[in-house]
Amino acid sequence: MNAHIFVVEDEKPIQELLQYNLEKEGFKVSSSANGEEALETIKEKVPDLILLDWMLPDLSGIKICRYLKQDKTVKNIPVIMLTAKGEEEDKIKGFNTGAEDYMTKPFSFPELLVRIKSLLKRVKPNIVSDEAIYLDLKIDRVSMKVSRKEKEINLGPKEYKLLNFLIKQPKRVYSRDQLLEQVWGDDINVESRTVDVHITRLRQAINIDGVKPLIRTVRSAGYSLEN
Ligand code: CA
Repeated sequence: MNAHIFVVEDEKPIQELLQYNLEKEGFKVSSSANGEEALETIKEKVPDLILLDWMLPDLSGIKICRYLKQDKTVKNIPVIMLTAKGEEEDKIKGFNTGAEDYMTKPFSFPELLVRIKSLLKRVKPNIVSDEAIYLDLKIDRVSMKVSRKEKEINLGPKEYKLLNFLIKQPKRVYSRDQLLEQVWGDDINVESRTVDVHITRLRQAINIDGVKPLIRTVRSAGYSLEN
């Protein structure tokens, strides 16, 4: 599973436990202990799913969830709210937060994992399945083969990672910085110009008919997978 999970949790032991276990399952994990910071970082990092604690030192999880669900660039990211047992649990049911699921603390990690996977499968099938498809373009994640109209396409490792990321949410525009973060990670020696170079290579490689390039350039914004 190559999905990216963002954890908003101020209790360090819980945050570390989640991070450790999720990474062991193959997820990429980022986290924040602070609501304001989380809101900003989520827009930057574009995670595939958010685990959101209800009680935070500044903004409540409910407020964060409402902000997220009002913002069209992030509202499709599924949210699982983490609440404490008892009063909170009852209270939260009365709120319309827009969260996709709830989990009561203390929770069992295996159960949380089941919910994460089923939510991702439902909301973002292109992320979790062994095969990602957009129009006539197909990625087989097991064999790491890419094809268009059944014709195999050879991609370099960075182009493959770029395409594998863009296909998670076709038509969404990602900035160069977001693509750098997702594909090159913490390698700070990479310039944003490098993204352009690899996007050009990817665009040429997957353009089999000379008509539909499938990668759109949005001036001063970034790139998307779109025909
Ligand atoms: Ca808390």
